[in-house]
Amino acid sequence: MQGTLYIVGTPIGNLEDLTPRAAAAFGSADFVAAEDTRVTLKLLNHLGLKKPMVSYYEHNLKERGDYILSRIEAGESCALCSDAGMPAISDPGEVIVRDALARGIRVAPVPGPSACVTALAVSGQATGRFVFEGFLPMNARQRRERLAALAGEERTVIFYEAPHKLRATLADLAAAFGPERGVTLARELTKLHEEVDKTTLGAAAAHYAENAPRGEYVLVMEGAAAPAPEAVSLQEAAQRARRLIEEGLSPTAAAKQAAAGTPYSKSEVYRLLAREGET
Ligand code: SAM
Repeated sequence: MQGTLYIVGTPIGNLEDLTPRAAAAFGSADFVAAEDTRVTLKLLNHLGLKKPMVSYYEHNLKERGDYILSRIEAGESCALCSDAGMPAISDPGEVIVRDALARGIRVAPVPGPSACVTALAVSGQATGRFVFEGFLPMNARQRRERLAALAGEERTVIFYEAPHKLRATLADLAAAFGPERGVTLARELTKLHEEVDKTTLGAAAAHYAENAPRGEYVLVMEGAAAPAPEAVSLQEAAQRARRLIEEGLSPTAAAKQAAAGTPYSKSEVYRLLAREGET
């Protein structure tokens, strides 16, 4: 019988965030696939476990993935982890999960913390709808295009950033979305120097122009404001509806179209039309 690929979340800083299920998954797996075996060795030592390990990182995803999946098909179980957080989230994992599912291999989640959701939860920004952008591209043209694509994004936007690139990224974000746009910098989450700073892009860019960024950061940016409803009077909306009726629309359809994007409902426009028709 073939084994299972376990996708195991590990702490993003505080070792106490390692779940009992994650410890059990490492304990019962036949082998561990790790982004960096030296990092994971420390975790396994902390748990008092000795396990055969294979490395699975950005530059060997395809051939090492095939090797890992062949072992699982032959009956072994594998616990896959990255250096911190959930595998496959801006970390190796996406490719092997897709390939495992394509080969009919069972993939089981062993969830743990992820910096993006952890930062969002304490950001003070809107959490109902959000997009995860991960790391912005380094290539200048791709970066410009990505930022342009986010221009009207009304959902909260989450970015990852390395400390040595934070200054440049804050400057690019302030230029793209304006210095007044809200942002929360969630730094060193769950660690000794944890800090959550709810500020604006302009203020953050100015702060880090003077102070060196330290540690790991998630940026949780406020979404764009929804466009204000058009400033039209009810009479103007009714006039628009009359023109649409002249163009051949039914009164109901005309009222609906004329009311779109205004503060008025279809029925308000329709009622005014009907009243004016009576006089
Ligand atoms: N797979 C991981 C996860 O689920 O969160 C993310 C890995 S990605 C290579 C690393 C990035 O995650 C960092 O550059 C930083 O943006 C963010 N990150 C990871 N740990 C963090 C922490 N403790 N505090 C703030 N950001 C963190």
